[in-house]
Amino acid sequence: MVLDDLGSSLRGTMDSLRGKSRIDEDDVQEVVKQIQRSLLSADVDVDLVMELSDSIKTRALEEEPPGGTTARDHVLKIVYEEMVDLIGESTEIPLEEQTIMLAGLQGSGKTTTAAKMAWWFSKKGLRPAVIQTDTFRPGAYDQAKQMSENAEVEFYGDPDNDDPVDIAREGLEATADADVRIVDTAGRHALEDDLIEEIEQIDDAVDPDRSLLVLDAAIGQGAKEQARQFEESIGIDGVVITKLDGTAKGGGALTAVNETGSSIAFLGAGETVQDIERFEPNGFISRLLGMGDLKQLSERVERAMEETQEEDDWDPEDMMEGEFTLKDMRNQMKAMDRMGPLDQVLDMIPGMGGGIMDQLPDDAMDVTQERMRSFEIAMDSMTEEELENPAVIKSDRLERIARGSGVPKERIEELLEQHSMMKRTMDQFGNMGDGDMQRMMKKLQQ
Ligand code: GDP
Repeated sequence: MVLDDLGSSLRGTMDSLRGKSRIDEDDVQEVVKQIQRSLLSADVDVDLVMELSDSIKTRALEEEPPGGTTARDHVLKIVYEEMVDLIGESTEIPLEEQTIMLAGLQGSGKTTTAAKMAWWFSKKGLRPAVIQTDTFRPGAYDQAKQMSENAEVEFYGDPDNDDPVDIAREGLEATADADVRIVDTAGRHALEDDLIEEIEQIDDAVDPDRSLLVLDAAIGQGAKEQARQFEESIGIDGVVITKLDGTAKGGGALTAVNETGSSIAFLGAGETVQDIERFEPNGFISRLLGMGDLKQLSERVERAMEETQEEDDWDPEDMMEGEFTLKDMRNQMKAMDRMGPLDQVLDMIPGMGGGIMDQLPDDAMDVTQERMRSFEIAMDSMTEEELENPAVIKSDRLERIARGSGVPKERIEELLEQHSMMKRTMDQFGNMGDGDMQRMMKKLQQ
């Protein structure tokens, strides 16, 4: 994830302040040095790094920690506030009728983002449409059309027309019924005059309510110049950072936000239309600093549950009332899967983030996900009867399932073991009154 190194090295430095009631200049110097090192290696612009670290230093030394606060909490709060200040609020995206234009270099992820954003708006109950004006990149039309289909949203494009301004105009007319029109534009390998000219013409024709700059998280120092040029030619209201699922450092994108005086609107972390998140600065920095982000977690859980219920006609309420079967377990696993990579989900739980994750071996999470996959494959080879009543799975059935699925017998035994563990837990839930359950949910949401 973006600035991951910053998160872990900061947490390390912060931990060294634990137990101290006062901090001296050396302590502050050490924290600031660590922040500078991490930000620079994450490709954040040098001037910006200096500005940020200076304010942290001044404040940490000058401001008195409020009574009862430890030195560590005091510094952490300052770092948090300064980082939130640097990144800013997320770009305002009202849920109303509007036209949004996407700009950026070729390969930055514009087309993918257009479909993702359309999907996001459709989940918010609006009717979006994607308009593809990229006549420069071969394949852009087919890709946008396919992704819009995946997102189940309206699409307009014209593969026989090579004038993007024309397509944009016609697209707006053709999608007049839509609430939100997302106009995808062509990129180039680098900033060339004809790109700037073209996007200015589209900008004139479309007259968007907001223009978003799409940036690959891997962009480094080039971000500043790119952001400046787009800002000058069409005006940038917000930035979308894509490919956060990769190993990218993300610092360049932060520089771009600063350069355009804008903010981050969305984060993209994956190739499918659902892999988009609205940027939440507080949650984002909290995650970075290992403070957890419960709000986002509960939103993700809710969304994943809803999808699983819609798709599989599965009602968790039934599960609470009846027997907990392997089918219920499979549905729970699907819901987990939809929440995103396990490590990201854990990162959002206070106390589970940062510290714990850093102690796990790097591949620990992969193993868990790999294990879940093989559980799923094994369940696909089970009969309805076995899924409903796993107690019938004795050794010859076990052999058959292992043969059919290619999953080792031991793994299937683990699955059954895990199922009975979960079943015991669910039985306990079952014994709780409705009031208990509601109180627990409320507590989780606080
Ligand atoms: P465009 O030229 O700006 O329209 O870029 P595309 O939308 O075609 O994206 C370029 C490539 O990056 C494609 O292969 C996309 O699948 C991929 N891509 C876009 N966004 C993401 C993302 O968030 N994560 C990953 N892993 N790949 C992405």
